[in-house]
Amino acid sequence: MDGRDEIEGLIALMARLPGLGPRSARRAVLHLLRKRVQVMAPLAAAMGAVAEHARDCPVCGNISTGEICAICADPDRATGEICVVEDIADLWAMERGHAFKGRYHVLGGVLSALDAVGPEELGIPRLIDRIRAEDIREVILALNATVEGQTTAHYIAEALEPTGVRITTLAQGVPIGGELDYLDDGTISAALRARRSL
Ligand code: ZN
Repeated sequence: MDGRDEIEGLIALMARLPGLGPRSARRAVLHLLRKRVQVMAPLAAAMGAVAEHARDCPVCGNISTGEICAICADPDRATGEICVVEDIADLWAMERGHAFKGRYHVLGGVLSALDAVGPEELGIPRLIDRIRAEDIREVILALNATVEGQTTAHYIAEALEPTGVRITTLAQGVPIGGELDYLDDGTISAALRARRSL
């Protein structure tokens, strides 16, 4: 592989990133080549380290480079509240809103008979164990307002009923068919504050 092919290969890899097409990938790579010391080398090192160490938090399913994630490791976040989200993008969206101080449970999907995704795959038995082990008082179901999201929310609410935990769900502000990751931070905060019992 000659030198030019290596750079073209890098551009082709960058173009696979969400939000970057071939043109912006080429522009980004040119920028990196011009800032090799200041940007490219530290970026490459950071990507290598994260690629090597990133793993799912065994407690909540967040992604992290530690044994457990920073949220599960932070004693101040043991508030007795768990917020259930579909995936990590939704967790990050909630964190951007700075409204929620408790911990999370990342399902990694929604119930789907078609894709053979059942309660085990979503870690729902593990969630029930956490409610007991972590002395949880309230579970906030922050699932997307899609048919699958709401079906999953109702399933979880039923599964948790024997624990006696308070179950709430995000209220107004989440549009029907809306996905948390696309909401602005203020909308998420308002929806969290106005949560209601499910
Ligand atoms: Zn965690």
